Amino acid sequence: MLVVMAADATKDQINRVITEIQELGLTPHPLPGSTRTAIGITGNTGSVDSRILEVLDGVKECIRVTKPFKLSSREMHPNDSLIPIGNNNIGDVHEFSIIAGPCSVENEKMIHQCAEFLLANGVKIMRAGAFKPRTSPYAFQGMGQEGLNILSRVRDKTGIKIITELMDTETASAVEEAADIIQIGTRNMQNFALLKRVGQMRKPVLLKRGMSATLEEWLMASEYVMAGGNYQVILCERGVRTFSDHSRNTLDLSVIPPAKSLSHLPILVDPSHGTGKRNYVPAMSLAALAAGADGLLIEIHPDPDHALSDGPQSLDFKQFQKLLLSLHELGKPLGKRIV
Ligand code: PEP
Ligand code: MN
Repeated sequence: MLVVMAADATKDQINRVITEIQELGLTPHPLPGSTRTAIGITGNTGSVDSRILEVLDGVKECIRVTKPFKLSSREMHPNDSLIPIGNNNIGDVHEFSIIAGPCSVENEKMIHQCAEFLLANGVKIMRAGAFKPRTSPYAFQGMGQEGLNILSRVRDKTGIKIITELMDTETASAVEEAADIIQIGTRNMQNFALLKRVGQMRKPVLLKRGMSATLEEWLMASEYVMAGGNYQVILCERGVRTFSDHSRNTLDLSVIPPAKSLSHLPILVDPSHGTGKRNYVPAMSLAALAAGADGLLIEIHPDPDHALSDGPQSLDFKQFQKLLLSLHELGKPLGKRIV
């Protein structure tokens, strides 16, 4: 349920409602808006008697949220969620956020080189995995803690923001420290223990879509994070498993309009894992911008043919610069700044 406070409700009146919700054994989630505060309620297994709350001073109305996902639904939060990173906001309707970088941290020199290259090209957030979820146990598993140390040093030196993947609860604190955004990978979208753990954090979480997850399952996963009080969730479409074998996955750009309609959360697109082939990345990146996504998560590498993971889908620096130019061009008529 959602308790909508009157526009002129006082702080004391809001706190009174919060206390009442807690006394009912439920969890209040105050959601300040531009014109009024609303308070989401979770923790109820049955329906809540709205009359108890409706009679309190400052309450305008109580609205039943009909969807199974609550905090992530538009019903609960009609305005788009904005996730501030540096001077930009992921989810801002006038911005299209670019996050790029190598699949894995391979060594300090290449991470530093990537960061300098990205900053020189106006990209302020770098991706790179220190812990890698690989299909084969014999494949490169990532540099682990040393990879995180490299990311932290490069962040301190250059000022670039870092997104890196968290794979298990054991390494949660270490990843939280090194990351500005915590990535939950496709294989962990329904790792509920992990989702609850990042729900306790107060850093943005990029939640990749499970490779066979419906939109509802994906939003329910985001709900696990938000139910813990971490409302900074960014969705990321990275392709789903279908019968098609012309590409690594089937990039489901058709999920963007319904995701935007059902949820207020920003949605990024990962055309690298979505296609698995670098030649197809530019077209799908432009399509994602046109389809209303809030940005991209792209793999690039200074020498893709010698990458330790995902080289075939990584753009080299020149190809990435070319793509950036086309994104800037397409952004203009769409009223989106590429940031
Ligand atoms: C990645 O971003 O490198 C990655 C492993 O992605 P996904 O979880 O989408 O496979
Ligand atoms: Mn990868």
